[in-house]
Amino acid sequence: MYSENLLENMELVEKTRESREKQQLPILNEKKKEKLLSSFHPDYRLSGFRALRVGVNRGDRTVHEIADLLEAFSSFDYREINFEKPDLETDVLVLGGGGAGITAALFAHSAGAKVILATKLRLGNSNTIMALGGMQASVSENDSPIRHFADTMVAGKFQGRRELVKAMVDDGPSIVKWLLDLGVNFDRDEKGNLLTKKAGGSIAPRILSIGDYTGLNIIKILKDEIRNRPEIEILEFAPAVELTTNEFGECNGAILFDLERKRFVLVKAKSVILATGGSGRLHIQGFQTSNNFGATGDAIVLAYRAGAKLEGLDSFQYHPTGIVYPDHMVGVLVTEAIRSLGAHLVNSKGERFINELETRDVVAAAMIKECEEGKGIKTPSGRVGVWLDTPVIEERYGKGFLKKKFPALFRMFMRVKINIEKQPLLVYPTLHYQNGGILIDEKGETTVKNLFVAGEAAGGIHGKNRLMGNSLLDIFVFGRRAGLAAARRKYNEPGKQTLSHLERYYQELKSLRITTVAKTPRIFQEYIVGD
Ligand SMILES: Cc1cc2nc3c(=O)[nH]c(=O)nc-3n(C[C@H](O)[C@H](O)[C@H](O)COP(=O)(O)OP(=O)(O)OC[C@H]3O[C@@H](n4cnc5c(N)ncnc54)[C@H](O)[C@@H]3O)c2cc1C
Repeated sequence: MYSENLLENMELVEKTRESREKQQLPILNEKKKEKLLSSFHPDYRLSGFRALRVGVNRGDRTVHEIADLLEAFSSFDYREINFEKPDLETDVLVLGGGGAGITAALFAHSAGAKVILATKLRLGNSNTIMALGGMQASVSENDSPIRHFADTMVAGKFQGRRELVKAMVDDGPSIVKWLLDLGVNFDRDEKGNLLTKKAGGSIAPRILSIGDYTGLNIIKILKDEIRNRPEIEILEFAPAVELTTNEFGECNGAILFDLERKRFVLVKAKSVILATGGSGRLHIQGFQTSNNFGATGDAIVLAYRAGAKLEGLDSFQYHPTGIVYPDHMVGVLVTEAIRSLGAHLVNSKGERFINELETRDVVAAAMIKECEEGKGIKTPSGRVGVWLDTPVIEERYGKGFLKKKFPALFRMFMRVKINIEKQPLLVYPTLHYQNGGILIDEKGETTVKNLFVAGEAAGGIHGKNRLMGNSLLDIFVFGRRAGLAAARRKYNEPGKQTLSHLERYYQELKSLRITTVAKTPRIFQEYIVGD
């Protein structure tokens, strides 16, 4: 339910709706886009960044929050661990129980490897389960992997690595087939063909979805599949806190921390797949986030200390439509499909200020501009946002449309007495996605031998801006690739487990006189009550 002052400003949204519907806002030319981005997008705020002082990427620019993670000592004292005697041994150790991790575990198992999957929370508790809008894959008649490749490269400002983008788009159709065979029921048209929708920045309709709960449905199926394979050992509430390496610097296992028993678990493995997701919970540059509580960038810390190269960690995606009211829903995502269907973004004067179908970075920058220039709407707790006029859609497509097409969104707001058919939502950009990560090759392997990465933790694919729906595709494509490649290492001799990489890293920190009280990996972000 909206407060008095918000209801008052909302009247202006209602009054101007009809005239706004007649308005055609142009797509900005490149020069104007660049000006808007460089003035208002958080990726361009010089004060938000610094150069890394340690490790393989020393000198590279990243946000303070990631630099703080990397220029820090471990949260734990590992002296009590007996490295001669691992608690568990396996061929492939998968870290992370979201879409990428479960996929990797399934394929490694199918390829004949012994697999352990360890995850921070419960299996499936992840960003994947929250994915709403859908997944890109070139399966429709008028589409092809080449067109998908072009869209992805353009969206990423040509900073994505060609070989990785090619791998992702080429594998798209076969990944869809795999998911369908498992029982994922993507939406279909009246003729029974897969229903594909066009996303912002795409030249062909390519988004496959299941209502507005695509990720939830896929994770449900993947969980069933992995639970049906009892040989895969699943360890829940067991986050990885460090990797181990042998005398050649190759990865050969990890240290987990059993959150329930409060003890370390040493796992020896012939290969390790990091699939621990992104870093939205770090609230980079103070932004609200759409991400789940597990997304604290742990993979970056673990891999970097082990010597893996990172790429593109100066670029993050701020999804334009994160909720700013009511307070307990701050950061929650409203799917882009709402804007694709014609919802307007409206400032406190009742005006549209940007073509809503511009790419996410441009729309987010335009919203920040409005708010910084005093044309935002203030909530009772002092946050600021602009209106997302959802009733426009209802008027355009007829009564009951929103409830039918976005059942999850509709229900979520009815619970707080906001009817999206009649009332707009108050939104502001929300930290959504880590565009970069740990550099991988086409097999998903990092620059550290026997260490693979899949999913949002990986870098090199999306360049400076991820296309909507490409993350769900990339987690399955590189989950499969990493799972299969890691399984082929099952004849490896992993060697003795050590933390010598960590000792070297600490020495570097100390020699640079970096003194920090921060302890990482963070595992859980701390919140101050009332924050
Ligand atoms: C609200 C929302 C909506 C989205 N909608 C879409 C969409 O429509 N289409 C699209 O393509 N993308 C979408 N995305 C992005 C996409 O869902 C994610 O990027 C993707 O699912 C990430 O998958 P993942 O397996 O790499 O990571 P996750 O799914 O986040 O899984 C990571 C797992 O690792 C665990 N973990 C974390 N740290 C550790 C550790 N130290 N040790 C062990 N385990 C650990 C986590 O608990 C979690 O289980 C959305 C994201 C959000 C947040």
